[in-house]
Amino acid sequence: MRAQPTGSHYINGSYYDDPQGDELTTTYPATGEVIATLNTATQATVDRAVAAARAAQPAWAAMAPVERGRILRRAAEIMRERNQELSELETLDTGKAIQETLVADAASGAESLEWFGGIAPSIFGQTIELGGPFAYTRREPLGVCAGIGAWNYPIQIASWKAAPALATGNALVFKPSEMTPLTALKLAEILTEAGLPDGVFNVVQGFGATGGALTNHKGVDKVSLTGSVPTGKRVMAGAAETLKHVTLELGGKSPLIVFEDADLDNAVSAAMLGNFYSTGQICTNGTRVFVHSSVLDDFLARLKTRTEAMVLGDPLDPDTHMGPMVSAAQADIVERYLDTARSEGARVITGGSRVNVDGFADGRFIAPTVLADLTDDMTVVREEVFGPVMSVLFFDEEAEVLSRANDTKFGLAAGVFTRDIQRAHRVVAGLQAGTIWINNYNLTPVEMPFGGVKSSGIGRENGLAAIDHYTQIKSVFVEMGDVDAPY
Ligand code: NDP
Repeated sequence: MRAQPTGSHYINGSYYDDPQGDELTTTYPATGEVIATLNTATQATVDRAVAAARAAQPAWAAMAPVERGRILRRAAEIMRERNQELSELETLDTGKAIQETLVADAASGAESLEWFGGIAPSIFGQTIELGGPFAYTRREPLGVCAGIGAWNYPIQIASWKAAPALATGNALVFKPSEMTPLTALKLAEILTEAGLPDGVFNVVQGFGATGGALTNHKGVDKVSLTGSVPTGKRVMAGAAETLKHVTLELGGKSPLIVFEDADLDNAVSAAMLGNFYSTGQICTNGTRVFVHSSVLDDFLARLKTRTEAMVLGDPLDPDTHMGPMVSAAQADIVERYLDTARSEGARVITGGSRVNVDGFADGRFIAPTVLADLTDDMTVVREEVFGPVMSVLFFDEEAEVLSRANDTKFGLAAGVFTRDIQRAHRVVAGLQAGTIWINNYNLTPVEMPFGGVKSSGIGRENGLAAIDHYTQIKSVFVEMGDVDAPY
């Protein structure tokens, strides 16, 4: 019970429990130890959270934006001061290596709060000259937003939704994944400590049904989901009933293209980061690595050596590179994909199976895996695995690789490695993806809009683009003369 929080939900500025809810246990994936026992929200608790948000939102929206921003920036500072504690909690909840959570989770959340806090006072409408009369626009908040998160970046996802929503004067009710419920509660505590008025940020726990209750709720004006494509479709259909705004950050099967002139060591680094970071549980991962045939053998040799040097083990040990999968169910999914890949003819360059780690008999560790001898129609090349499994394919021509890279229902991200700047930009222009990296992979600075095309999602998080998804425009026409009426 190392991580037992004070309560299950966070409503109207304090912890709240719902004894009528079902029991919700969360475990440390490395050991299977139960680290917290919570309860899920019943409909009454969801209603309570939405009512708190509705009551708090108008005063929050009416506050001077510079003051709203100051509160968010104060929260960012507190998050940074507590980074060690938050990172340890995130590692316990997700099983991700502490060397990652220390730099990529609460740290990214703090950046989001800081950046959106900074721009809060600069979110303006426009003045439109009409040659006498004029018009102006107001950028107004949507009202009460619901955020629904996945389990791979719990506090980051909560912060990426809270920061733009709150900066623009909305209130938020956030539902974390039931597998990783803890750090969103910490974010709520921190926001309160920073001076956020009660009710502006609330957390309710639960399974898919709780997400559904928020999606269908008449008191909610927008839903922002980070999750899988099937859940995205359900949320969009549910939101349609009340014509809610939606932002959907969904899955991917992203291509990483390595041309023959690429810096191969950098390309290998990026391919490893883009497949093994977070134990491979990242939506943007470049899981289809297309390597030019002339450098394929060299690429695979370097990749194998470096992958086999990776350290799997105790996630709380700072020297560990990769922890276990988040759950037994996710480990089973990855193992099934590996079995299918082998039966469809894939060659395992390295990894390919579960690993036993001394002292962690119940941990669900999977070796970082590189597969080759693949064709584009194999299951492991087409479907999102969400585990440390890299598919390496080869190509000969630019047009060929572009067409193969785009031959997927997904369009979240892509990467291009080349020293030829004209080729890099030409390929970027042809790739169907929301976020593309040239000569790097998986960097998501808060300043840069983030989101997918095709089945990977709708809307954008981060950057100024996020403002469009948490505000609506009111147009105001101002007459400066008489009314011109024919009657
Ligand atoms: P899921 O889609 O299973 O769940 C996402 C969230 O939605 C969870 O909180 C879940 O609750 C909730 N949910 C489930 N059913 C419903 C419903 N009917 N209505 C409303 N909410 C519901 O995704 P995972 O948590 O398994 O995360 C993995 C997926 O997320 C992958 O596909 C990955 O690519 C994607 N992802 C996308 C990212 C992006 O930014 N584009 C980033 C990270 C992940 P519960 O967990 O309790 O079932």
